[in-house]
Amino acid sequence: MPGGIIQAFIDILYPPYCLICHTRIRGAKAREPLCVKCREKINTLTAPFCVKCGRGVAGAYTREGKCALCLKQNFNFDRAWAGYAYDGVIKEMLHYFKYNHKVSLGSALARLMLDFIGEYRLPVGSCDYIVPIPLSPARLREREFNQAYVLAAALSNHLKLKLLDNNLKRVRNTKSQADLDRIARWKNIQGAFKLKSPNLVKDKTILLIDDVLTTGATASEAAGALKNAGAGSVYVLTLAN
Ligand SMILES: [Zn+2]
Ligand SMILES: [Zn+2]
Repeated sequence: MPGGIIQAFIDILYPPYCLICHTRIRGAKAREPLCVKCREKINTLTAPFCVKCGRGVAGAYTREGKCALCLKQNFNFDRAWAGYAYDGVIKEMLHYFKYNHKVSLGSALARLMLDFIGEYRLPVGSCDYIVPIPLSPARLREREFNQAYVLAAALSNHLKLKLLDNNLKRVRNTKSQADLDRIARWKNIQGAFKLKSPNLVKDKTILLIDDVLTTGATASEAAGALKNAGAGSVYVLTLAN
């Protein structure tokens, strides 16, 4: 039986519905998690971006292209990028992805990240390794998968960049960053990462992957561990910020 017919049967048995608004999705878009209307509601970030943390800086105070936060504080990564605002549809998608075990959403979210890479021609092709930011062992047990790993694996596949997993490690369990304020987050994450084989990243250019960049404390700390191990440049790409 041709694939199209099989798919039509599957669609009859399990009609595809939009993840967000639950309306029926028909036709060629049936394999997408979102209907066209919800897809259009995604809040895509647009340039200019802070040259350090990647936050949108349109109309905001900047010096040398840096946002007010980056003028005060030094992140260990060289540069971070995010394609979408962490609100509305994206926030809901990430919630389903992480807490409702919808691992299948990973490829759709990775595609959104690839759209952003393409749109702004991010120079990620020169990276030696894609590295997912690891979860603490306790969190991994609870969630059963690392959302950053799922995104990183899909991106590595599409970008033909080598995935380096299980080298950057969380060496201690930390409290959930979501429950802490800005200052506490920096303290909570300090010293949380270590490299299993530091030699592997020596002089390498690394692209760190996570789902969201909030304060940037986690990404900065992970980048710091990589730099301590001798990594050359460390970039960070997240779906949202
Ligand atoms: Zn919808
Ligand atoms: Zn910034």
